[in-house]
Amino acid sequence: PSGMSSGVIDAAIETAYLKYRGLKDGKNADYIPVLAEVNPELFGISMVTLDGKVYGKGDTSSRFSIQSISKVFTMARVIEEQGPKALMEKIGVDATGLKFNSIAAIELRKGKEINPLVNPGAIAATSMIGGATYDEKWNNILQTMSDFAGRELAVNEPVYKSEAATNQRNQAIAMLLSAYERLYFDPAQSTDIYTRQCAVNVDARDLAIMAATLANGGTNPVTGKRVVAAETVSHTLAVMATAGLYDDSGIWLFNVGLPGKSGVGGGIIAVAPGKFGIAAFSPRLDEAGNSVRAQKSITEVVNLLKANQFLVE
Ligand code: GLU
Repeated sequence: PSGMSSGVIDAAIETAYLKYRGLKDGKNADYIPVLAEVNPELFGISMVTLDGKVYGKGDTSSRFSIQSISKVFTMARVIEEQGPKALMEKIGVDATGLKFNSIAAIELRKGKEINPLVNPGAIAATSMIGGATYDEKWNNILQTMSDFAGRELAVNEPVYKSEAATNQRNQAIAMLLSAYERLYFDPAQSTDIYTRQCAVNVDARDLAIMAATLANGGTNPVTGKRVVAAETVSHTLAVMATAGLYDDSGIWLFNVGLPGKSGVGGGIIAVAPGKFGIAAFSPRLDEAGNSVRAQKSITEVVNLLKANQFLVE
């Protein structure tokens, strides 16, 4: 895009990286035991423009679990397969205003109007994904994420096992949704597929390509493959804008003006529609569960590039 030469982009990423490299605020997620063991010093920023050019600084090839960022791609696939109305009616798209793993959010609304970017709605989206069996659904999800990333992604087995052994709360969420007839596949298997999708290993570069595929209206700018339709992307970005950063989604949008999504593994993506995808990775999280350095560095780059969607000069 005009005014965004490679030199300007490199300089913006470098500035953000150097500014926050030494920041140690926050701490690793520890409710999933192995996440507490990830090196908290890791920090990388990656950005991909719509011509497929990849920029980056720091630990952009260190792998970590995608966690909640996976919810974006499963939701997009469900919209693609069943249409936006099915997502609205069978799950819901408004922010719940409650914590990402809230059981009260389900109980308050009798399983209705939950959100696909927090756990109850995300497990419901997993249950809705195309496929008649566990394997078909899982392959559909993994293939979708791989197409967005432009390479064959795989599960981080220690993360999957660690979370599968400690995810009683998500199992309860699935059971309660099932009791309200708001889950569309077997609850134990849906929870397990969801747990697996959260354990998929990515690096900051993969995430930036995934975000850039959204920025490019659903066609991966590196591989040239159309992954989902442009309309699907427009609905996906809307949910990201209102619910992508847990309870701080409003603060995020206020500061950055772009749809984003974070995960407790320390990754965050942001999408500048028609311009670029950006991702950052740093394991230490704030109280809301968002990576401290990933939030700050993406905010810095977006502001230096004047890429806030609401900014008109
Ligand atoms: N797998 C995690 C969970 O279900 C994802 C949480 C997140 O990244 O927000 O608790």
